[in-house]
Amino acid sequence: MQVVRTKAEVRKAVRAARAQGKSVGLVPTMGALHAGHRSLVDTSVANCDFTIVSVFVNPTQFGPGEDLDAYPRTLEADAALCEAAGADLIFAPDPDEMYGAAAATTVHVSGVSEGLCGAFRPVHFDGVTTVVCKLLNIAAVDRAYFGEKDYQQLVVIRTMVADLDIATEIVGVATVREPDGLALSSRNKYLSDQQRAAAPSLRQALLAGAKAAADGASGCEAEQVVADVLAAEPLFRAQYISAVDPDTLEPREDDGLPMVIAAAAYMGETRLIDNIRVEG
Ligand code: AMP
Repeated sequence: MQVVRTKAEVRKAVRAARAQGKSVGLVPTMGALHAGHRSLVDTSVANCDFTIVSVFVNPTQFGPGEDLDAYPRTLEADAALCEAAGADLIFAPDPDEMYGAAAATTVHVSGVSEGLCGAFRPVHFDGVTTVVCKLLNIAAVDRAYFGEKDYQQLVVIRTMVADLDIATEIVGVATVREPDGLALSSRNKYLSDQQRAAAPSLRQALLAGAKAAADGASGCEAEQVVADVLAAEPLFRAQYISAVDPDTLEPREDDGLPMVIAAAAYMGETRLIDNIRVEG
């Protein structure tokens, strides 16, 4: 497995793989890789002949006061995880390589990027779509893999790829969880022992909301169930709890299934997100 720093090296590697008739997959990440990322890499390795993992803490998707500087950077361990998973190439550019000083273009997906996390992180999805669009142009892969844990991100990227006629299939991968239900996240490292012990209540709240929805509750009612369970954990401060249409991310409010119930909540300074999909 190679670790490269430049776009030119990625393009060269992809050309060489294609010349051998290989299919190419991409797993975009910000590093600090864990078993959730590993599941994306495993899926790509299982389905593509050549797997690229990008490791880039993308400054443009962090807002003022967010954790850009504190974000964990663990390239050596990331490379070991990717190598063990059978990935072929890590692309770990620095910000100057990724963005020219005169970069003037932003990719903005309206609608689906504006609710949920987008309402609280106004620059976030523009940063995500711009960097993912760039990665898909640099690597021109057959498939790119994204986690359902970041459900809104997955929908935003699917929308971008459809709207811009990008010839990459976007594949969603199920959320990997700790045995107690907490979704794996690079940000879990920020939690104190006490916070970590309380963190699974986000998942428990979403499970309770999903059960209510499956039993006939409307979107609003299911949101209230989630809010009530979460409120019982004093270490959590809910930012939003929203039941939405799985495809359009429009609020379900008075409607029933199918729905995705998505939530963001703070534990101290750490913002955790999770979601659950309830089928009709
Ligand atoms: P990040 O490095 O946090 O930007 O995440 C990179 C990719 O890994 C995104 O597509 C995430 O949705 C995905 N991911 C993060 N955590 C998990 C998880 N627990 N299970 C599955 N995918 C995940």
